[in-house]
Amino acid sequence: MRIYNTLTRKKEEFVPLEEGRVKMYVCGPTVYNLIHIGNARPMIVFDTFRRYMEYRGYDVNYVSNFTDVDDKIIKKANEEGVDSSVISERYIEECKKDMAAMNVKPATTHPKATEEIDGMLEMIGTLIEKGYAYVAGDGTVYFRTRLFKDYGKLSHKNLDDLQGGMRSLLVSGEDQKEDPLDFVLWKPRKEGEPYWESPWCEGRPGWHIECSVMSKKYLGEQIDIHAGGEDLIFPHHENEIAQSEAANGREFAHYWMHNGFLNIDNKKMSKSEGNFFTVREIGEQYDLQVLRFFMLSAHYRSPLNFSRELMEAAKNGLERIRTCAQNLKFLSENNKAQELTGEEKENLAKAQAFVDKFNDAMDDDFNTADALSAVFELVKFANSTAGEVSSRAYAKALLDILLTLTDVCGLIVLKEEELLDGDIEAKIAQRQAARKARDFAKADAIRKELLDQGIILEDTREGVKWRRA
Ligand code: AMP
Ligand code: ZN
Repeated sequence: MRIYNTLTRKKEEFVPLEEGRVKMYVCGPTVYNLIHIGNARPMIVFDTFRRYMEYRGYDVNYVSNFTDVDDKIIKKANEEGVDSSVISERYIEECKKDMAAMNVKPATTHPKATEEIDGMLEMIGTLIEKGYAYVAGDGTVYFRTRLFKDYGKLSHKNLDDLQGGMRSLLVSGEDQKEDPLDFVLWKPRKEGEPYWESPWCEGRPGWHIECSVMSKKYLGEQIDIHAGGEDLIFPHHENEIAQSEAANGREFAHYWMHNGFLNIDNKKMSKSEGNFFTVREIGEQYDLQVLRFFMLSAHYRSPLNFSRELMEAAKNGLERIRTCAQNLKFLSENNKAQELTGEEKENLAKAQAFVDKFNDAMDDDFNTADALSAVFELVKFANSTAGEVSSRAYAKALLDILLTLTDVCGLIVLKEEELLDGDIEAKIAQRQAARKARDFAKADAIRKELLDQGIILEDTREGVKWRRA
């Protein structure tokens, strides 16, 4: 696998720190609103890369945070007259619903900034001890940017150019900095804001420190991949590197991956200009699998323009794959012939070429656009070689290949038919019979089979009750 590394500006062979394992951190959203389709881009693309790595046999530890303390959250909380945790918890729940609707797998861990304050106090303490940070008169703690000699290595920025730009940006209250380049690790509380005790002042953390701390806690001092949208390269990720490498004394992340921006009608998405959609709004107009397909139809590093035409094209593309999958399923269940013929065996060997093409595309810095082309070639091949006279085994084998590839993309192409109430009752009766016969393994297996299809059983005094999840 080759990955484009923002740090070196090159595609590099992927060599994990530990064989067979991947430690990956993806910067998550600030939760003050419903997520927009721009936020959905890193969620979808990095979830797809995770799925691909799992398919290639890696054990992926995937951590993605929720930033739940921030000016925008506090502003909204004050407007509504509630605690800021009410706002952040509300939008974390909404974000999780959107993720599920887009078939984005939950991370291994979803830490929240407000639950990791102790770790932040510890890392800031270490940075002060090592001389990388200092406490200003009002208790603000700043990072001494110039002392970290690799500063700028990710964004390829030169400190003196930065300094020129920063002078004009100096805002009041920052005159206590030793250097305009220094950035905040901890800041004093203001009226109406959440705050925590610290050795320096009652206050709250700066934004960057949370990711350095959560990444270390859940993945260790060194990780394989750190990812997010390209707007995070500077200053967020540059500052994360400075904090982590200064505190831990070793390289932080080996590969830095950044997705390009999602624009609307070729303009930057912006709330004020009204060219802005939430995932929820798009979900009212389209199946969100269409949004997922649309995101994967472009290379993740390229800018991507959201337009109705492209969404319609994505809808048609997905439909073509779905029709093929449904057709193969029907043939695999209804055709007369059962066993593979010699010609079908040869065709299956040919179909393997599309799998290889898919894998090659994904191995080349996750080229999902080319990977989807390989899926379409497979669809075309299936449409022309599978029909009523094919064997059930042939249709089933092609379907399995198609479902494996679409599952790596996180695309649901075959909706499981809903179990009918009668089928459920029949299964429950079988389970009761198994229990009576003290065949508990069988009873458990039936329970699990139903659960896998979203049916939950509850044993009550009045008998077994069931409901759909
Ligand atoms: P935020 O809530 O602004 O911190 O953003 C959460 C994630 O979404 C970050 O990885 C951002 O880089 C990413 N992001 C925000 N807006 C866009 C956009 N228009 N296109 C692509 N990614 C975005
Ligand atoms: Zn981050």
